[in-house]
Amino acid sequence: MAERFLVGAGVGSGVAHGKAFVLRRPEASLAQISKPGNRVGMIAIQNAMLAVAENLENVNTVGEAKEVMQSLAMILRDPVLFQEVKAHLSEGAEAADAIRRAFARFARQLEALGGYFAERASDLGYLANRVVAELAGDLPEVEFPAEPFILVSDSISPMDAAKLDPNRVLAVITSDGTPTSHSAIIVRAAKLPMVVGLIGSGLIRTGSDLLVDANSGQVFLDPSAERIAHYASAAFTATELINVIDDTREAPVTLLANLGSSFEAAGAIAAGAKGVGLFRTELLYLGLQIPPSLDEQVTEYSNLLRAFAGKRVLVRVLDLDFDKPLPFLREAGAGKYANRGLQVLLANKEVLNTQLEALAIAQKTSPTTDLWVMAPMVLSVEEAKEFAGLARKAGLRKVGVMIEVPEVTEPQVIEDILKQVDFISIGTNDLTHYALGKSRHVAGDGAVSGTITLAETRKPEVFDLIARVIAAAKKAGKPVGICGEAASDPESAKLFIELGVDSLSASSALLPQLKAALLV
Ligand code: PEP
Ligand code: MG
Repeated sequence: MAERFLVGAGVGSGVAHGKAFVLRRPEASLAQISKPGNRVGMIAIQNAMLAVAENLENVNTVGEAKEVMQSLAMILRDPVLFQEVKAHLSEGAEAADAIRRAFARFARQLEALGGYFAERASDLGYLANRVVAELAGDLPEVEFPAEPFILVSDSISPMDAAKLDPNRVLAVITSDGTPTSHSAIIVRAAKLPMVVGLIGSGLIRTGSDLLVDANSGQVFLDPSAERIAHYASAAFTATELINVIDDTREAPVTLLANLGSSFEAAGAIAAGAKGVGLFRTELLYLGLQIPPSLDEQVTEYSNLLRAFAGKRVLVRVLDLDFDKPLPFLREAGAGKYANRGLQVLLANKEVLNTQLEALAIAQKTSPTTDLWVMAPMVLSVEEAKEFAGLARKAGLRKVGVMIEVPEVTEPQVIEDILKQVDFISIGTNDLTHYALGKSRHVAGDGAVSGTITLAETRKPEVFDLIARVIAAAKKAGKPVGICGEAASDPESAKLFIELGVDSLSASSALLPQLKAALLV
């Protein structure tokens, strides 16, 4: 089966390979309790809330996980929350609906308080489901597989997270949730790799083969033998890892990390990354009905830039690369590049300008971080010029574009693009797909297909384009980096270095191996 490449936010660090076990329990409970005519009284709801609170308090756990349980129980015992439920019930709402709406409203109130409270808000949805499930009283005991497995769920409760047996669970994947949720804190403390907010997780079935890379938030569904071997060869013993990272010899080019969330920063630094070569900002936008606010974005970018003080950080503005467009974006373009890349942002300038403004504000909070901002998938010189103009107007100093389609590797085009920008970055994932005539879309499922192999990027049809782009950048005296998967492949990386690239960027799970290979 062809490999597929899915992206979410990595939590903690580590890589796991194994079979999926898919659990979608809370929704079934919600459906049951929401059946028309299934009315449940206030006392029953109050009892359910108290029962869940008690359950949380009694979970046998210590340290950070214990604190999490206690604070969730406190939320459930808050009389204001119960008053909210009552208000919805007296307006005639069904029990499940009343609970969901009251908890959602409470979550918004917590969010408005900001800081620690805002971070806790993401757990309220889970708590509502838990109370409904308690009311429905239908929680069948789940039969977990006998063999170690990768748990895949819409969300995971802090209580279930605390009960995970690290000897049986290899990693955790959720389609909802944020890296700051209580569950994520608990899973990270248990040192299990986790990816939250995974786009396209609906494609995963129980028994699916998965490779989870928590360092970069990447999940490979049905990974190729080559991918598995690539990650396996990157697995170092603890001592070897320390030796590679502590090796004072520098790699021949700057090695940077690909990240999908500021939570992955610590893992990247621990892996010896000299900075960030690709920060994918898509996760900030996905699942939202309206774009993230300026403040939300400033917070995330400031966290990222602070973590890399004194280092270089390349942030890529929003790149739509899946079939389901965001509801607040106007569609743009036609043909194989429809609704992809920079053209979408240029058709939605208010969204782009807010993102650029947020980045410029964040830059001021971390003056020692060297922020470079780039646009995805530029299709023409005019697009590059327009983007560079907007970014500079917003106050950003280093502005670049990603080279990801064959059309812009034409000598005259790339030469003219280089006149507009301060740097370029080659996205070998897309470039390889398009140069070989493959589509990266998978009809109807919103996922990105990763059916190219690392070796395919070395085929002349692709490699000659990369060589041409690097040569043009050298001639123009502008930095050029590579941030597609091929950058982590030692064989390809050595060729890119011979051609003169300035930086290579990859998942931090693969960086130590890359450095070791480049030093021999
Ligand atoms: C690429 O296309 O190589 C790239 C790095 O971008 P993404 O994988 O996010 O499309
Ligand atoms: Mg790309």
